[in-house]
Formats: sequence, C-alpha cells, structure tokens
Amino acid sequence: MSDVHALIEVRSPSTGEPIGSVPIATAEDVSEAVASARIAQVEWAARPLAERCRILRQVKDRVIARTDDICALLSQEQGKPRVEGLTTEILGLVDLIQYFTAEAERILAPEPIPLHLMKHRASYLHWVPRGVVGIIGPWNFPFNLNNGPAVAALIAGNAVVIKPSEFTPLIQELSREIFIEGGLPADLYQVVHGYGETGGALIANVDMIEFTGSVRTGKKVAAACGERLIPCVTELGGKAPFLVLEDADLDRTANALAWGGFANCGQVCASVERVLVHRSVLPGLLDRLVPLVKALEPKDTTQDKLAQIGPLNNARQRDIVSSLVDDAVSKGARAVVGGSIIEGPGNFYAPTLLVDVTTDMRIMSEETFGPVLPLMTMEDEESMIAEANRSHLGLLAYVFTKNTRHGRAVAERIEAGTVMINDVLSTHGMPETPWGGVKQSGVGHTHSDASLRGFCEQRHINYDLLPTLKTEPYWYPYGPRLFGMMKRLMGTVYGSSIAQRIRSLRGG
Ligand code: NAD
Repeated sequence: MSDVHALIEVRSPSTGEPIGSVPIATAEDVSEAVASARIAQVEWAARPLAERCRILRQVKDRVIARTDDICALLSQEQGKPRVEGLTTEILGLVDLIQYFTAEAERILAPEPIPLHLMKHRASYLHWVPRGVVGIIGPWNFPFNLNNGPAVAALIAGNAVVIKPSEFTPLIQELSREIFIEGGLPADLYQVVHGYGETGGALIANVDMIEFTGSVRTGKKVAAACGERLIPCVTELGGKAPFLVLEDADLDRTANALAWGGFANCGQVCASVERVLVHRSVLPGLLDRLVPLVKALEPKDTTQDKLAQIGPLNNARQRDIVSSLVDDAVSKGARAVVGGSIIEGPGNFYAPTLLVDVTTDMRIMSEETFGPVLPLMTMEDEESMIAEANRSHLGLLAYVFTKNTRHGRAVAERIEAGTVMINDVLSTHGMPETPWGGVKQSGVGHTHSDASLRGFCEQRHINYDLLPTLKTEPYWYPYGPRLFGMMKRLMGTVYGSSIAQRIRSLRGG
C-alpha cells in the first residue's frame, strides 16, 4: 500500500471523540491484497487438514489470551458492554473454532454417493477450497461475524480478505494481529478498509463472497457476484417476531424480551423486533417487563465495566430508531418507557417499550435495529401466526409457551430460517446449526456442516467398479437395433405395473 491514502476516522459511539483511523484501500491495493493472498493460499491448501486445524486451535488460544484487549476495543469502538464482548462475540468464536477444528475431518471427508442403477460404477464427492474468499461485514458484531466465516474458510483451505464496516475497522486490525500471533501466515488473512467502493473492488477480485449486512447492500453485492458468477452467501436483516402464547411462563418471557430486545442495544439481526402478545397475558407481562426495561440505563461502556447497555454504534442508526418510534407515537402508540434520544455527546437512545402498536406503523415492518420493543396485542394464535409472517424478512422468530409440543406446531408454520421455542438469540452460539434467513433475510448459511462445505467447490468423481468393456452398447456406431433395445429396456425397468413391464420386454 502506498503512503498517500485517504483515512477513515473512527469515533467513539459514547463520546463522539476520534479514537483512531485507518487508510482507505484503493482498487489497486485490493487487487494486490488478493494477489498475495492467492499465493499464500496455494501453500496453505497443500498442508494437511489436521495441520490447518492445529494452527486455528493456536489462534483460539490467542483469542482467549487477548480477551481483555478485545473486550476493551469492542466497548470503545462498537459501544457494547464489556460482558457482551465476551459472551456474544468472543465465546461464540472460540466455540466455533473448537467445533469446526474437531469436526472438519468428518465434514470434509470424501462422501460416497450410492448409485441406484449403475451398480457397476461408483461416485463420490470431494471438497476443494475455492481460493480467496472475500468477507464483507457489518458493525454490530464486528469481531464474531467477520472472524467466524474467516475461520471456516481457512479450515477449508482458503485465504481470506476481509473488508470490515467503516464504523468498526480497528477491531479487524486487532483480529489480524491475533490470528498472525496464533501462527497463521500473514498473507492468508488480509484486511482492506473502506466504504462500498472497496467492497466492490473486493468482489471484482475474489472467488467467493460472504456478505453480512443490510438487505439494500446485499442485493447490490449479490448482483455484482452474479455478474462474475461467483458464489455469494448473504446474511441480511431481520424483523424477528416474538409470540407470547396464552400459556407462556411470564417471568421467563419478560426476561427473554428484555435481553432479546436490548442486548447490544438492540443492534442484532436476530433481535426481538415485534412482540405479539395474547391479550389475556398482556397485563401480567407488562407488570414484569416494565421494571426490567426501566432498569436499563445507557452508559459509556468504556467507563462503566458493569454497564448493561451502551450507545448505538452510530448516529445514522440512532436517527433511524428515532424516526421509527416517532412515527409509531404519531399514529397512536404509547411509550410506557423511554421514547426519545438522550441528549448530550454520543449516540444514546433511551431503552423504549411501546404499547398499543398497530400494523400501519413503520416499526412493525421496517428493521428497527435499536433498543425498542413494540408490543402488539393479539386476540388469538391464528392472527399471531399471520402477523408473524406478514414481513418481507424471515431470519429468526420466537415462540413462548409452556407446551413445547404445541410450540413446535406453531413454530413450523412461521416463515423464518430459525424458530426458537422459549429462548432468544442463542442459536448463533451453536455452530452445528445453520444460520441464515428465508425471504429477503438472505440466501445461504453460515455455521453448520453445509457452511464449511460451502467454502469449497463440491467436485464429483465417478469411476468403474468392474472391468470395463471395449465399448458401451449406446456409444457409436448407432446400429439399427439400438433404439428398439433401449426402448424395451426402459419399459422393462421403469414400467409401473408388471403388465407394462412384460409388454415392454416383448417389444410392445
Ligand atoms: P450495510 O449493508 O450498510 O454494510 C455492510 C457492509 O457492506 C459494510 O462493510 C459496507 O461498507 C459494505 N458495503 C456497502 N456498500 C457496498 C457495496 N456497494 N458493495 C460492497 N460492499 C458494500 O450494513 P450495516 O449497517 O453495516 O449492518 C447492519 C445490517 O446488517 C442490518 O440490516 C442487520 O440486520 C444486518 N445483519 C445481518 C446479520 C445476519 O446474520 N443475517 C448479522 C448482522 C447484521
């Protein structure tokens, strides 16, 4: 990279003060980064899988050793409470490394395909790394969401070039330092900084894109990948409905709503965004929920190590939240807690509980991505399910009930990539389960065996089991009897009735 570069200046979400800067990569810088990653990848892919896993386990140990540094920077740059840096970013990555390094031999082993007809031949799949994977990420979980796919891509034998969000570039620099400390060759894990143009330059050079971000950008990224015909996984926005059924345990429901709605200041793609409450339990739920929300006092998370909630990461997001709440209130919603920007430095917004919410309010259809729980009173379960499905998004959904069997029946009718019963957010911490949406929440998955394989080309080998003949009956030359013979064979093998098979055998 040359010395003359425009800079991104990073500002503290709590104070607005500058906290660091990074150079913006030009298109040339990006193509150089990918070219050197490409060279490193060839040597990396040639190493045995067990050796690659060994190095990733060393990375895991460095992550554990650097926990305090990572948490401090996440509080400073992203704004989250120190404990959330550990529980929702670091722990998930450590567990993901543990899981995939333990399971990679199984997941990436060649897979036989039993052939139902051609028994004289055999088939299997094998998995070949794609080359250089570009990872483009958001600012809400900048440590976990970029490094999780990076780990899976690296185990599979790829190099990665990561373009982090322009709001959280510093944590990516620290991540790179830690991965290299763990023994990863430096060129194998590269970071390029910038805005949309840098992301575009990355797409123009790599062999696959893993994108996490908004629906609007996801469509542009998918289109650019389509132009190059490279694979693209898109993890996009969510509008998770939370159904409180008549028989829900109200204590657990209230606690789950508080955490599922306000963790990371509501900036979670899986956050509870729409609470659909059966009318009969609304008073009991509010009695429990209101004090929990009132207790959440936003703090500068770098100063208060026990802060429960911090600021929003950036002013743009705070203004979106503010405009959605104002729209709801102007149409008749009541803020029983919060409802406004907290004046002063930083991007603080008061944790907000809205009641009397109706479907015509934007907050019931647009992603809020902030510290707001809108509650809508529902008369029956059928309308709850219909309302849950009235969205262009379908990432996560939640059903709370004491009757798990019934909860599963309801869950199966909800249009979402994952539905949790009596829990919130936590499947992201289960790397064996698929993470991905339906509808406009994205295409493809991170996590699960399929994601590790997705970082590879699936290649198919077909070979002979028995000694081969000089030729096959259906190869050249086509003799006069071939057509009749094949037709008889087809009817005899595939005819649905005995009579039809016999007729075919006789040439009928
Ligand atoms: P965003 O779409 O604004 O930005 C995401 C990334 O894309 C950034 O790095 C940005 O610089 C880059 N980018 C912007 N324009 C680009 C272009 N034209 N080409 C290539 N790259 C481009 O999203 P954000 O505001 O950073 O993140 C918030 C969104 O992410 C929310 O909608 C949230 O729901 C979603 N999200 C989804 C998941 C999931 O797993 N499904 C997880 C976290 C966040």
